[in-house]
Formats: sequence, structure tokens, C-alpha cells
Amino acid sequence: MHFLKKTAIATLVIAAGIAAWADEPAYRLPGQHSQQSADLLANQEHMDEIINLEINNYLNYVEEEEPEFDIYTEGWDSRSVNPYDPNKVPQTATIDVSNFCMPHPGYLTSPYGYRKRFKRMHKGVDLKLNIGDTVRAAFDGRVRIINFERKGYGNYVVLRHTNDLETVYGHLSAFLVEQDQYVKAGDPIALGGNTGRSTGPHLHFETRYMGYAINPAAIFDFANQTVHTDTYAFDKNTYQEARFFDAKANAEYAAAYRQAHPAVYPAKTSTTSGSGSGPKYYTVKKGDSLSRIASRNGTTVNKLCRLNGIKSTSKIQPGQRLRIK
Ligand SMILES: [Zn+2]
Repeated sequence: MHFLKKTAIATLVIAAGIAAWADEPAYRLPGQHSQQSADLLANQEHMDEIINLEINNYLNYVEEEEPEFDIYTEGWDSRSVNPYDPNKVPQTATIDVSNFCMPHPGYLTSPYGYRKRFKRMHKGVDLKLNIGDTVRAAFDGRVRIINFERKGYGNYVVLRHTNDLETVYGHLSAFLVEQDQYVKAGDPIALGGNTGRSTGPHLHFETRYMGYAINPAAIFDFANQTVHTDTYAFDKNTYQEARFFDAKANAEYAAAYRQAHPAVYPAKTSTTSGSGSGPKYYTVKKGDSLSRIASRNGTTVNKLCRLNGIKSTSKIQPGQRLRIK
């Protein structure tokens, strides 16, 4: 509860003190905050950092190196220029999202929002998947763009939907639809991948309204694999906010998903790849010997022994976890 309360507080703060929970009927002006909220706001200086820390503790979010190209402004060729005049985007709109399909059941590996490290917005969410997993159309619509962007989204699809939203699917390994093709919610449109600027297989997923990148977590409840409500109330002031975001629920969903999909999320103990500086582990397989493990992982038997407190003559068992770095 402590955490949820802070999340609520952070929501207020992030919205510069003007927006309340998105599910409330309207945002409030600063002067309309209750005394209690005003007191909380007065104490918020570092709350956003604390919240980030806590969310990261819960979820182990990966900040992908992919500062995705913004296809609506930077990587937009003649065929794909943002057709929307920002001046014509209404202040509010009601969007029917009741006929939806989750684009992929993977859990959130990276949320929407500003990434300090890359000094830019992440205009969608990243969902865990395995290369070759099916990616589905989120709503009924038509394929507007199929394209490849080496520096950003890799292979990507943009769908324009009958509910006026557009969705973007990035880092795909294969396309299952063609440009201009009509699709129904749930139709397979592509296979997941790791193309473009991406450090591991995942789906980059955006929801746009007339070019405005809405936080997909404001529409979709990824922890419960559903939409929050049948309609999404677009508001130019609040479209970046998540709704009912519950980091703990997301973490629980992620844990359950990882357990159910070991191929998508191999246990860290059996992973020897990666370039991080932290310790690395290896799970002993049948037929392994210390010298074989050492040579395959670019280390020596001596180092292995030292790291694991064993002798070069010690017996190792399949399934045993050895630190290799
Ligand atoms: Zn992304």
C-alpha cells in the first residue's frame, strides 16, 4: 500500500500537479487540490527518482539501447509522413477500444516515458517475446506502413484502426501482412524479432492518436492482459499517463510469464552471453568438465576454482551453478 500511495503521488507530480488519476472524470487545476494533496505535493522533490528506483526493483526493467527513431518525425519518408496536423487534433476524444486483442502476451520490459539515459522519450512500451512469436493486430484496421528502419524500429508495421487509433509494432523478424491489407483484431500480422536498434528480442508497441503517442499502459492493462475500460478518453493533457499502473501486479505477471515461458526468458544461471560487468553464471550440463567450461567461456580452470571456492579436482554435477565471471 505504501508503494501504491507513492505511485499515486508520483502521478500527480509527473503531471506537474495538474492531472489527477486518469480514471477520474477530469484533471484538476493546482488550486483545486485538496489540502492533503497539496501537502503531499509540497514534499515531492525527489519522489520521481524514488519511484523509478522502486519500479526498477520490482520489474528489472531493461533500458534498451534502442532510442527508437520517431517514425512520425525523423524516419518518415514520403509514403509515411505524419498526415496529422497537430492543430487539428481535438483536445479530447473518446476512443472505443472494446474490440481489442493484446498484441503479444509478453510482459512489460520497459515502460513508456522519458529515458534519462538517452535524453529522449520512449514513445511506446517494450514487451518480452521470443524471435518468431506471433504478433497480433490490436484492433480492426488496415496496414498503413510496412517498412524497415535500421537505426530504430527495425522491421515495423503501422496499422490504422477503425477506432481512429494507430498502432506501431517494431523489431519484427517477419511480416505476415501486406501494405493496405485489412486486418481484424487478433489477426497475426508479424513475427517478433530483434531487428533495428534492439539489444534483445522484444516487441516495441505504440498506440497513437493522430500522431500523439499515448502511453499504451493507459489503454492496456498489461498485468491483466485486458483493456482498462471499453473506451479510452484521449486528452491532450493526460495522454502520456498510465492508468491504474500497479508495478507489483506487473512484476507478478512478469514472474508468472517467465516461469511459463522458459524459452523466452531463460534462467539467468544458464546464460553465458551478455556484456554487462556483473557476475556471470553457468549451469553445468551433462558431459561438462571444468576445462571445457573454462575454454568455452574464455576463462581458466584456475579462475573458475577461485570464483567458486572449488579445486580443479572437484567433481561438478549437471545442474550445478558455477560463477564464470
Ligand atoms: Zn521500445
